[in-house]
Amino acid sequence: MALIVHKYGGTSMGSVERIRNVAKRVAKWHDAGHQIVVVPSAMSGETNRLLGLAKELSADPTPRELDMIAATGEQVSVGLLAIALQAIGKDAVSYAGWQVPIKTDSAYTKARISSIDDKKVKADLDAGRIVVITGFQGVDDLGNITTLGRGGSDTSAVAVAAALQAQECLIYTDVDGVYTTDPRVVTDARRLKTITFEEMLEMASLGSKVLQIRSVEFAGNYRMPTRVLSSLTDPLMPLEEEAASGTLISFEEDTNMEQATVTGIAFNRDEAKITVLCVPDRPGIAYQILGPVADANIEVDMIIQNQSVEGKTDFTFTVPRADYNKAMQVLQESVREHIGATNIVGDSKVSKVSVVGVGMRSHVGIASQMFRTLSEEGINIQMISTSEIKISVLIDEKYMELAVRALHKAFGLESA
Ligand code: ASP
Ligand code: MG
Repeated sequence: MALIVHKYGGTSMGSVERIRNVAKRVAKWHDAGHQIVVVPSAMSGETNRLLGLAKELSADPTPRELDMIAATGEQVSVGLLAIALQAIGKDAVSYAGWQVPIKTDSAYTKARISSIDDKKVKADLDAGRIVVITGFQGVDDLGNITTLGRGGSDTSAVAVAAALQAQECLIYTDVDGVYTTDPRVVTDARRLKTITFEEMLEMASLGSKVLQIRSVEFAGNYRMPTRVLSSLTDPLMPLEEEAASGTLISFEEDTNMEQATVTGIAFNRDEAKITVLCVPDRPGIAYQILGPVADANIEVDMIIQNQSVEGKTDFTFTVPRADYNKAMQVLQESVREHIGATNIVGDSKVSKVSVVGVGMRSHVGIASQMFRTLSEEGINIQMISTSEIKISVLIDEKYMELAVRALHKAFGLESA
């Protein structure tokens, strides 16, 4: 007998019929003698619908009230799932975040979990109950309802699993695992049986949408074995087969890892590039350029500063495309006056493509192979950044899919 946490995404909870299937699957695991905690998302489309209502009333709704509204989607889901379980003879109980409680800070719409009380849940489990807990939401010290940011139910599930010291956290979703790249771009992308936690972290932060990045951080911090698997299979399929399906995020690099130097290709279409031209090359300049950008809550990703010529240099960095206009505006105000740059230019039609793999630590030549592949396709590289296990390039968005396909092939990632 083991304690296992199941998480079901919006699509898996998308209709009464699907909720019935979730209940059947959960009951199967419970019948096999496991203690089960389920963390569902809101029904698909529901969070958008709820937030849309708020936007109809105000262009700038307060974050506290947004959380109050958005959190109800998950509350409906847990109630429905508990009822579906009860309808097939299972003892089940649902809890909202504040009832557990799942404590968070007060950063509405992007709160962080600070603690989870396991007492009530453990008592229910010991009494043979299936416990259904809302994803995405928590409560701050003052009793305000908070949410964890879009996609936050993944994080709720892994955090609950860690707090309960579960054996495994199973993330059931509408894809059957983590792929070498997005199968919508490369049709022969291959499902990975395992991926290391660090690779998953890179893939998530580089634009792979399978898991919310914070859930991966949680999995890493607590070494919680986490598996991404399909909820669209027959809910009554053999349990052993289901338990071994999908992609396991693992913590061991050596054992059982597929032998490859590159594990996956990640990409992010929606980048923008900004260059501040002809800034003086002296201490404090990077800070004066990027400080106001950070103060405007804009995340800066890649950064390059060129070799200076006659004491002047160009400074280039990338921001999410959605923040491009705001960043340009901030810079016009701050940089021109204080720094005396000659001009600020930008390009909001760039994309980032990255190759990721822990194998890079022990293999040289990955970067040159990447650059050769792109050059053979005639793709110009605008910026490069690297970490120990990834190399990213910024390119014209027109060539993004071509680059992903060429790299996927060049590194032999296609299915056999
Ligand atoms: N319902 C929330 C959202 O749509 C949280 C989640 O699904 O993980 O973002
Ligand atoms: Mg999700």
